[in-house]
Amino acid sequence: MDNHSTTRVDPLVVDTMLPFFTETYGNPGSTSHVFGWESKDAVDAAREQIATAIGATSREIVFTSGATESNNLAIRGVMERVRRKGNHIVSVQTEHKAILDPLSKLSRRDCELTLLQVESFDSQQAGLIDIQQLAEAIREDTALVTVMLANNEIGVIQPLGEIAKVCRERGVLLHSDATQAVGKIPVDVKQLGVDMMSFSAHKIYGPKGVGALYVRRGAPRIALEAQIEGGGQEGGRRSGTLNVPGIVGFAKALDLCFAEMATENDRLSELRKQLYQGLTSSIENVSLNGPNFDSPSIRLANNLNCGFAYVDGEALMMSMGNLAVSSGSACTSANPEPSHVLRALGISDDLVRASLRFGLGRFNTAEEVNIAISLVAESVQRLRKMSSLA
Ligand code: PMP
Repeated sequence: MDNHSTTRVDPLVVDTMLPFFTETYGNPGSTSHVFGWESKDAVDAAREQIATAIGATSREIVFTSGATESNNLAIRGVMERVRRKGNHIVSVQTEHKAILDPLSKLSRRDCELTLLQVESFDSQQAGLIDIQQLAEAIREDTALVTVMLANNEIGVIQPLGEIAKVCRERGVLLHSDATQAVGKIPVDVKQLGVDMMSFSAHKIYGPKGVGALYVRRGAPRIALEAQIEGGGQEGGRRSGTLNVPGIVGFAKALDLCFAEMATENDRLSELRKQLYQGLTSSIENVSLNGPNFDSPSIRLANNLNCGFAYVDGEALMMSMGNLAVSSGSACTSANPEPSHVLRALGISDDLVRASLRFGLGRFNTAEEVNIAISLVAESVQRLRKMSSLA
């Protein structure tokens, strides 16, 4: 139940990928023989499928190694170019580290950073940004706004269309990290009005190590400084031999998500309800972190994040045997700092440390949810008893 961290590759995706390891294994950059042409055809078809799925065109897709690289390319790519605008960037406190870390590095050089606050834990809309605050944060010298679409810890979905409108009116580029949103909720880059958008295959039952950055074409032109240089692939924006099986699998994974999105969201939201009701009815003092999930437009259907007061989240996770959940983002779990996302909601450090994130996915069942409820309930009760004895 840690599907925000990564997902099992769907067997149908694996089947689609396999021939591209041993049969159609050419380098799509080889223009002198059929091995290369066949691989290039496969990449072209996958690019078209992925572009269409998000309302873009093929030439607007840059393949990368994942959303971390896409985020880095978008942020550093824009800020390392000479621009008409200045060096100010606006983002949000609850972004993923793959946004916050490149931003903080830039701010130690010559960039100025404004990180917006979000609605606090006691609001029905906990985690949402305030559009008015965003509008006020944009200055004459703001070059870039970057706001994630769906949060990886509390599942909150930001009003990206409204954010894009403000950015367009003010002539500022907008990037969005949509890693947790693409494939889960409808995402159309043209309807939303974003200029750049990052996403990744392994969050949507595709393989690890492949992702994409959407870069809008047309005026005003987006100039990006390449972060990886070499053979000039991807129009010079990202050199390196393309990961053909990964790209083909990425397209198939996205296709499967789109085919079942509506029914899958209903199923996941039922499972989440079962999980939340089970936890709250068998354990006392459980709090919901993040926005109300009665409004599907502001919270991902597969996300649940709960605080279990008076226990230590790490101890809780360690005591639950086979249940895979997390206390924050897997990408930062090497670093035992309490979740910066929950802290940004104003939750106390003790409760942040006592919180667990659940990410339900395609392969989870109602039976597994019941097992999870029992495991969490037993562990919380045991740990609370131990701490009251101490
Ligand atoms: N952004 C968000 C919101 C994420 O959840 C993740 C994965 N934890 C990433 C970026 C990084 O993606 P990748 O693993 O593809 O580099």
